[in-house]
Amino acid sequence: MPVEREILETDILIVGAGPAGLALAYKLAKLAEADPDFELPEILLMEKGRHVGAHCLSGAVMDPKGIAELIPDYKELGAPIEAAVSSDSMYFLGKKSALKFPITPPSINNHGNYVISLNKFAGWLGEQVEKAGVDIYCGLAGYELLFENGKVVGVQTVDMGVDKEGNQKPNFEPGSIIKAKVTILCEGVHGSLMRQAFEKIPELTKGKLPQAYLTGVKEVWEVPDGRIKAGDVIHTIGFPQNSREYGGGWIYGMSDNMVSLGIAIGLDSPDPKNDSHRKFQAYKTHPKVRKILEGGKMLHYGAKAIPVLGYFAVPKLYHEGLMICGDSAGMLNPARFKGIHLAIKSGMMAAETLAECFKASDFSAEKLGAYQVRFEQSWVKKELYRTRNFHAGFKGGLLSGLFHGAIQIITGGRGLFNRRENSRDHKYMLKKSDYKNRFGEKPETEKLKFDNEFLYDKLSDVYKSGTMHEEEQPSHLVIADSDICNTRCTEEYGNPCQHFCPANVYNMVEDSSNPGKKKLELTPSNCVHCKTCDIADPYQIIRWVTPQGGEGPNYTNL
Ligand code: SF4
Repeated sequence: MPVEREILETDILIVGAGPAGLALAYKLAKLAEADPDFELPEILLMEKGRHVGAHCLSGAVMDPKGIAELIPDYKELGAPIEAAVSSDSMYFLGKKSALKFPITPPSINNHGNYVISLNKFAGWLGEQVEKAGVDIYCGLAGYELLFENGKVVGVQTVDMGVDKEGNQKPNFEPGSIIKAKVTILCEGVHGSLMRQAFEKIPELTKGKLPQAYLTGVKEVWEVPDGRIKAGDVIHTIGFPQNSREYGGGWIYGMSDNMVSLGIAIGLDSPDPKNDSHRKFQAYKTHPKVRKILEGGKMLHYGAKAIPVLGYFAVPKLYHEGLMICGDSAGMLNPARFKGIHLAIKSGMMAAETLAECFKASDFSAEKLGAYQVRFEQSWVKKELYRTRNFHAGFKGGLLSGLFHGAIQIITGGRGLFNRRENSRDHKYMLKKSDYKNRFGEKPETEKLKFDNEFLYDKLSDVYKSGTMHEEEQPSHLVIADSDICNTRCTEEYGNPCQHFCPANVYNMVEDSSNPGKKKLELTPSNCVHCKTCDIADPYQIIRWVTPQGGEGPNYTNL
């Protein structure tokens, strides 16, 4: 039976209350306040998390350039800054050794930056947005991007109260259709609506390189006094990664006894057992890291994919009825490993463009295109362009990356090549047999003993993410053909989903109807919405779709 849906109309629909979406709403409100000729349009700002910041996760050391432009008196207004960066260092880790770089590479010089918890920061920015007169609708998740004659016209939200088989339960509430003059996607990395937009509007990605991703895995620890100082910023490369893999680790002093630490591992790894969570636990066994944490207490856990290709993967930023901001558009500087300031500025540029559109009552693609022009003339483009080849420099491994990185600094980002083609991350994963042939060894995971006091298994870490999903609903991990998982994938890759998911959602279990065989079992309620599976699956048969609004992680201090 067709479902009757409520149709809501608004002027502007912003999907996602992260730094980009919040900056957009705030800037629009302030533009309207300052300009008598511009009345604030009706804005619907929707957020799938249960509160603003619940799904926001980052290292994070923030360059204040973006927030200082958006809210010059952000400090006086109580922005939650954990610490000003007081020291900066970089180490190459061997299995037991730690070799300090004599100078910190300029790209990760953090003088003048701040250690923050992004989820606290987003919560505060959300309060400023509401004070400026824009309501935020939390727990509202977008299911489908709506089109009419090729133009984006809004979003359908997720149905609530549906059982695992898709039947309506007594508490069924159909998702609404929200129509808007302009829809702005600020969903963060690898958003599900963004993916629909890329599939349905090929011109958005025409001529662009495919995005490349890392999975970042993070814990926050309370540690005894004297282990770290507020504002200490340490970056590492090397252990536990081999030189073929892209990525590195971080240890940030949030206060004198609170530490944010994590690692981010490239999803273009050839290793079908690439497991960012396990590698992170191995990272903690390094003497340099152990020395900081030992005797402390782990408080919080989270994981998220990170877009790292940079400039050449930034899509066209507009279409009829559509704009794209922040991580949704891949606006992250891969050399500095920073995107919060870029996301804020992109939201501001989208707001300035929208103000012009509303003043002229013109929402044509041509008028929205002023956002692209603003981007091209902005410091965001300049910063991304300067690091345009950073990720590509690492295609030959760690040493090649360091070499190319140095040449790129001297040549303003060009290096020895301009724009090196890449494939989508999953294409770099090797089958078990190919891995053995190429590297002379079977893919193996680190041998670790989880005690759940210092080294945490995935399930115990997931508990610390606060994630929650109602069990009785359709799986939000949609597998197009589970036969492939139970046969070809087992044979060829050894079911890498068991490894790359940092939340223990995918497990191969005994198949009672097929003795001696295993089958894939999903536990979607563990999911922390990192999007890794949608990116890394070698057959591309996993699709992450939005579960009911208000579910997923409940990040605190992350
Ligand atoms: Fe991440 Fe996918 Fe695992 Fe969820 S199921 S935590 S999105 S890898």
